[in-house]
Amino acid sequence: MQILRGVAELRRWSRALRAAGDGLIGLVPTMGALHEGHASLIRAARADCAHVAVSVFVNPTQFGPNEDFARYPRSFEADCMLAEAAGAEALFAPTVEEIYPNGAESTFVDVPMLSDRLDGAFRPGHFRGVATVVSKLFLAAEPDRAYFGQKDAAQVAVLRRMTADLRFATEIVVCPIVRDADGLALSSRNAYLTAAERVQALVLSRAVRRVASLVADGERRASALLASARRVFAAEPEVRVEYIALVDWATLEPVETAVPGALFAVAAWVGSTRLIDNVILL
Ligand code: AMP
Repeated sequence: MQILRGVAELRRWSRALRAAGDGLIGLVPTMGALHEGHASLIRAARADCAHVAVSVFVNPTQFGPNEDFARYPRSFEADCMLAEAAGAEALFAPTVEEIYPNGAESTFVDVPMLSDRLDGAFRPGHFRGVATVVSKLFLAAEPDRAYFGQKDAAQVAVLRRMTADLRFATEIVVCPIVRDADGLALSSRNAYLTAAERVQALVLSRAVRRVASLVADGERRASALLASARRVFAAEPEVRVEYIALVDWATLEPVETAVPGALFAVAAWVGSTRLIDNVILL
């Protein structure tokens, strides 16, 4: 696996393959601290595409001033091994200066209709940072397909809208949430949890499962579904809920009825760790 450090290097890698007419190019953007969830995206990319690049970049512009940018887990050697084993041919690991050559004076990409909803309502500027860095990655790698996890469902909505609005020639592919055996959605931030918090954190997946099973039993009213999720969280009072929402996945606007394809999503603080989970309802 090649390690690429510069935007120009990534562009050369992609353009040489394109010129050779040598099959699809897939990109898997990540912030590193790779786990099985990331590996599932890389394997999905490898199943579709002849060539797969993984990016590992802890993007400062998607962190708020009081968030965990400085302490975000970084494990470059292990990331290289996992990415290569899952099928990556190139790993793009730029410096902050490489991605933001003009520092804080950067040009940004904003998706105003969506970027202040769900996580964006609690993390001002977060989705602007995400849309900006993903645009930069798309412009550098010019991938045919880019792979994202449903785990970050609001991020998917923002990036789908951005890709449509800017008419990027990249298809967004969304992969299912990978969970631990007990239901907890895998996340690089799970590394922050103490043993006690790890148990408390199960309340997120429990709420998601409860809502999915009520819908399977025929309950479609948002009011009833949200109330039942709130009751699940009430049983774990140490966990501080940020949002419990039932929304249209494209617009992130609240819906009254859980139609198929609607997004039920939760965000909550477990100690000093912010976790999210969701389900797309059938
Ligand atoms: P991150 O490194 O957390 O920014 O995540 C990089 C990509 O991996 C994003 O598209 C995430 O949605 C995806 N991802 C993170 N956790 C999981 C998971 N448990 N299952 C599937 N995809 C995931």
